[in-house]
Amino acid sequence: MRSCLLVLILMAAGTVQMLADDGMFPMSELPRVKLRERGIELTADQLFNPGEISLVDGICRVNGCTGSFVSESGLIITNHHCAFDAIQKASSSERDLLQNGFIAGSRSEEIPAPDYQVRITENYRDISAEVLSVVQDGMSFLERTKAIEKRRKQLEIEAERANPGLRAEVAEMFAGRTYVLFLYTYLRDVRLVFAPPASVGNFGGEADNWEWPRHTGDFSFMRVYTAPDGSSATWSEKNVPYRPKRFLRVQQAGVDEGDAVFLLGYPGRTARHRTASFLEFEQAVRLPLTVQLYQWQIREMEQAGATDRAVAIRHASRIKSLANVEKRSRGQLQGLQRAGIVEKRRQQESELQAYIESDAARRQRFGDVLQGIAAVYAEMQAAGPLEIHLQQLRQACRAVAFGFAVVDAVNERAKPDLERESQWMDRNFSQSVQELRVSLRDWHPPTDEVMLSGMLQRLGAIKGAHDIAALKPLLENAEVSGQAAQRLIAGTQVGDVGFIDKCLSLSPDQLRSSEDTVVRLVLDLYPEYLRLRELDKTREGRLSRLYGSLLEVKEQFLRTGFIPDANGTLRFTSGHVKSYSPADAVVRTPISTLRGVIEKTTGQDPFITPEPVLRAWQAGDFEGFLHPRLGQVPVAILYDTDTTGGNSGSPVLNSRGELVGVNFDRCFEATINDFAWNADYSRSIGVDIRYVLWITGRVYGATELLEEMGVKQARGF
Ligand code: ASP
Repeated sequence: MRSCLLVLILMAAGTVQMLADDGMFPMSELPRVKLRERGIELTADQLFNPGEISLVDGICRVNGCTGSFVSESGLIITNHHCAFDAIQKASSSERDLLQNGFIAGSRSEEIPAPDYQVRITENYRDISAEVLSVVQDGMSFLERTKAIEKRRKQLEIEAERANPGLRAEVAEMFAGRTYVLFLYTYLRDVRLVFAPPASVGNFGGEADNWEWPRHTGDFSFMRVYTAPDGSSATWSEKNVPYRPKRFLRVQQAGVDEGDAVFLLGYPGRTARHRTASFLEFEQAVRLPLTVQLYQWQIREMEQAGATDRAVAIRHASRIKSLANVEKRSRGQLQGLQRAGIVEKRRQQESELQAYIESDAARRQRFGDVLQGIAAVYAEMQAAGPLEIHLQQLRQACRAVAFGFAVVDAVNERAKPDLERESQWMDRNFSQSVQELRVSLRDWHPPTDEVMLSGMLQRLGAIKGAHDIAALKPLLENAEVSGQAAQRLIAGTQVGDVGFIDKCLSLSPDQLRSSEDTVVRLVLDLYPEYLRLRELDKTREGRLSRLYGSLLEVKEQFLRTGFIPDANGTLRFTSGHVKSYSPADAVVRTPISTLRGVIEKTTGQDPFITPEPVLRAWQAGDFEGFLHPRLGQVPVAILYDTDTTGGNSGSPVLNSRGELVGVNFDRCFEATINDFAWNADYSRSIGVDIRYVLWITGRVYGATELLEEMGVKQARGF
């Protein structure tokens, strides 16, 4: 009775998981989702059916994003911001594809994106028991994490042997409790087909990012190729377009306010099952430091590129991704405060603690779980500034990042395969090296010197940094840090592919005698980084055991099941095209139109509208693409699905599973989704398919793409 009452109270406070439309459902949960009630006309089997062809076969992951196959010839639609890195890497000041956009005139003109991969989910299997069988009483937390890691790798290797051509990846669903082995097809020859100019694809830039109303044409087309026999292969002239088992039907009629929509995609990370103590760590340490450090890096990179377009292009991709996270972190900080999420969760936890205490056996088993978790986050909070700055030292400064990758690769490769960091296992080594090689292309030593100098100066002010012998002499004062940065960057070759390849061919001993300044610095810092890595694993071991217990007792208390946090695996979410109210007396309607693009256009970045769009607007050239009720070309739609980063590029599907948009963002208030979803403010944003088709076919004349997608009226524009 008492617990029922508590459930009711928690429900009233909006704190019980799995309410309303909340939920990024894994495929295993689909049979339990009431699809009809959600306005979806398809059955669970039509969505996902590993033995047969289902809608999921038309969905793929494109690097960290999602994409959809929209033709039988491997054509993929995703976001402009998901293809951004490919567009940027193919751009130069002479051929500025970011600024001007890109249309491949024929298949042979499509541009290879060598650091892109496409992943398709084939099947999955719960392997929790097999993973957890290696955990023994008396193991230290570090031993526990390492044993689980090793078992996961073994199971992946075994599954790959049993399924040649497929890749196996184990995902932790509920920390310390459930593990699922996914089988994937990976395709490695990805090419850029069409990108609108950034003034369409990124219209509104950071001013509009994470905001509604939105007028961004955030879409692009890529194509994936295989070897002639259909197997996965890296780029080759002989490769042929991939033939997906299924592709999505494009529904030119789009959707209207109130219509049901659903998404399939690969949401990255959420933290809904984490405790109040975790949120406090985020609020007090990690988020504010992210904002501070990223704002500074963005400023420096923008300044470096202000008078030199070639430099601006090199930094464009990095600026964009840092700016995205920076603004999201600000939104989350604001959301944590405004929505009182920490307090609500603390309240929830004290109810739970009372339930635990009410029974002696329960108290014995779970009595100190919450406290144990809080102790880990308290430790992270105290060590956070130093740890985050050390991490940033090898992210903000690209040379240190490259140097670290080389030192780590060489040292890890000397270990038995199963003991290595996963990135450097035999099955991943060449892909990791390929990504490293491609990332060298954007290196700009003068900016890197500023980053290194700035990071050293910042570290100089952090407690504990002077205790690290390799850093101490570099931190004395700003001048010393500046000189050190200059010397280190001037004396390194880590930006050179040939040098990197040579280093990678060395043994750890041989590498140890390197005279390269940055490699030397990283070698000296390496023991510290290894210490941090082990510390992370120890914490992970502790948390994984504690969170496992927490979930168990929460399930007993709330008498409900939970949906696992997002973890980059395939998920389903549904909702409706719906307005929202971000503030008292303000209602924002859910469909933006071309009229809004024109109204926002100032001619100043980021509100420039390209000439061809203005001409088509003036000519009223909209036939076939108008929203019947609004009498305008719809640009973006707003809906209350449950999404996070990684859902970028996810297809927005109507009740029949037809493509009506491409998801790309959330409104500002919904940045907090990662910690808590809420029907009032959680809204996702997608580009309307009619805008995609209008821009692609009518404005930029790529009618062959519309034809390839089977869109009527493709000819005769
Ligand atoms: N625009 C977002 C991102 O890339 C998508 C989201 O998080 O909803 O992170």
